[in-house]
Amino acid sequence: MTDAAPAPVLRVLSLGAGVQSTTLLVLAAAGELPRLDYAIFADTGWEPAAVYQHLDRVEKEIARPAVIPILRVSSGNIRDDALDPRHRFASMPLHILNRDGSPGMTRRQCTSEYKSKPIKKQIRSLLGYPYPARIPRDVFVEQWIGISTDEFHRAKDADVRYMRNRFPLIEAGLTRDDCLRILTEHGFASTPKSACLGCPYHGNAQWRAIRDGSPAEWADVVAFDHAIRAGNARANADGNRLLGQAFLHRSRLPLDQAPIDRPTAQERRARQLPLIEAHELEDGEPDGCSPWACRSGASTQEKFGLTA
Ligand code: SF4
Repeated sequence: MTDAAPAPVLRVLSLGAGVQSTTLLVLAAAGELPRLDYAIFADTGWEPAAVYQHLDRVEKEIARPAVIPILRVSSGNIRDDALDPRHRFASMPLHILNRDGSPGMTRRQCTSEYKSKPIKKQIRSLLGYPYPARIPRDVFVEQWIGISTDEFHRAKDADVRYMRNRFPLIEAGLTRDDCLRILTEHGFASTPKSACLGCPYHGNAQWRAIRDGSPAEWADVVAFDHAIRAGNARANADGNRLLGQAFLHRSRLPLDQAPIDRPTAQERRARQLPLIEAHELEDGEPDGCSPWACRSGASTQEKFGLTA
């Protein structure tokens, strides 16, 4: 007789508060998926107000009645840290215009620093093994990640032994449209995209939505874009000045001058953009940023210079 496989100590949801992870919470609360012990939201401190409002509502109307505690964890405020010369900053993927006019991009470290790291810390604490305690091999949590079948390629194993990822939407064969239908049925049709307000992976539609729907948040991202023109504040303070300029918009123009309005058919034809590129320019990545499968863009280039 063989030993039974070890069971998870806890079942947690990585709650990004976007469409897919909210669907998982709704389904678990409704008893259509197994019970969750916790949902964990990693707060970068710079989500749009609509995401915080959505999270509050989901907590009040879905999580609390189902006795699923939502734990809000944080490594700091990504916006403040980026502009603080005294703060070590895990960089955002900024679009760089080098001195010779060539494009580049700074390394994306923010997802790991502001999302995965505080979640791992919280899970270690829930398991009773805060860092640097060694966690026994058979002690682990089952972590649910909201990835639907249309983006199954983003499903990845966890990078630590004490977390085992599961993808219940994929297991149930649910697409993003299915998730939207379920959310609509439960009164959450307007679930917003979750991503930092000034994420450089936004497409033009997201930038326009901020500009046209939330003037105060638009002023905030325009001011931030202006403030990061010379790159990372800490690197500058340390003498590693960026040789070139940094921007939030992929056109590498100041955000309030960037071409974020929808191009006319004629303009599209004149620019002859491949369909995929045009789509990404308009929509960015479909679902914001997840700690375990950052949807906010492909791998980053690092073609930019710093002073020695
Ligand atoms: S949303 Fe963008 S800026 Fe925020 S953590 Fe993810 S990749 Fe970084």
